Amino acid sequence: MSLPFLDLKRVNAAHDEAIRAAVNRVLDSGWYILGDECAAFEREYAAYCEVKHCIAVANGLDALHLILRAYGIGAGDEVIVPSNTFIATWLAVSQAGATPVPVEPNAATHNIDPALIEASITSRTKAIMPVHLYGQPAEMTAIMDIARRHGLKVIEDAAQAHGARFQGRRTGGLADAAGFSFYPGKNLGALGDGGAITTNDDALAAKLRMLRNYGASIKYHHEMAGVNSRLDEIQAAMLRAKLPALDAENEARRRVAGFYLDALRGLPLDLPVVAGGAEPVWHLFVIGTDRRADLQAALTQAQIGHLVHYPIACHRQQAYADQTWPALPIAERLAERVLSLPIAPYMTADDVGRVAAVIRATLS
Ligand SMILES: *Cc1c(COP(=O)(O)O)cnc(C)c1O
Repeated sequence: MSLPFLDLKRVNAAHDEAIRAAVNRVLDSGWYILGDECAAFEREYAAYCEVKHCIAVANGLDALHLILRAYGIGAGDEVIVPSNTFIATWLAVSQAGATPVPVEPNAATHNIDPALIEASITSRTKAIMPVHLYGQPAEMTAIMDIARRHGLKVIEDAAQAHGARFQGRRTGGLADAAGFSFYPGKNLGALGDGGAITTNDDALAAKLRMLRNYGASIKYHHEMAGVNSRLDEIQAAMLRAKLPALDAENEARRRVAGFYLDALRGLPLDLPVVAGGAEPVWHLFVIGTDRRADLQAALTQAQIGHLVHYPIACHRQQAYADQTWPALPIAERLAERVLSLPIAPYMTADDVGRVAAVIRATLS
């Protein structure tokens, strides 16, 4: 019997009734873009993140990119990003016309190392964009301290961390603004693309509402050269159907992560490390190993899904080959060693035991 890396059909089957009711509600309404479902989801997700504003957009990349644009960050500006992240973090900066300045992660948490940030700040730095990678909150207290001392904005890339907390507070409300993705595989996933910005900044929120809709707050009155980045009513309705179960699903992921940590302890591999004050939501369960190829082969043989997040560091991608980058050995080493094991709310202790048995047999 195979164990897929992530079975989205199974994830969404748990919400089948609510999802079908949501689709029917939109069909019956005859209104498909920027309507009551989107407005209601924005209210509900803002409440969930414990912030004043949520602005829904078309995807997570747009969420991050539009925050930068709304802050007036662009050509000639620098934004500090983690060297170890999904490329969307970097592309959001590049799309705004600014330059991503990579800072290496802490090798244990895989998140941006606050102790290395200050050395990368220049007179052109405008913002820091930490990522809560794998659902593990970045060390936000230290990051916010540095930003305040240098007059920088902090924008959370919270695309993998819906519901996570740092020192008791939700991601999405830990900095000036945050970008979320509702790509189907995320902890809160739509049945298509989707994204959102959360913030307590009234002026930023007002600007983003215009930017996402052709720069207009009154139909056909365009105050700025905006974009088309809106969340469909159907996707907003899906997200409303799934949001009430998010905390329970994150709790289920925590249990699965706990099973893994128990089952894999003592083996010659790197296990995930949770930073002090962080309450992760385990979007991914990522181990580190020198014997990745062996483990990949053994897991495949046992019909167990696995992936690598991410096999090529951003600065080594062809998309960024036209620029020169500093040496980033930690990001490169992680790219060679990381391996993501299956994790999902529906997984059982037996599922984890099966994965662990294959890993144990391969490493011993
Ligand atoms: C998924 C993801 C994004 C982008 O989200 P999309 O909705 O796919 O545009 C950005 N940052 C990180 C860290 C992600 O994992």
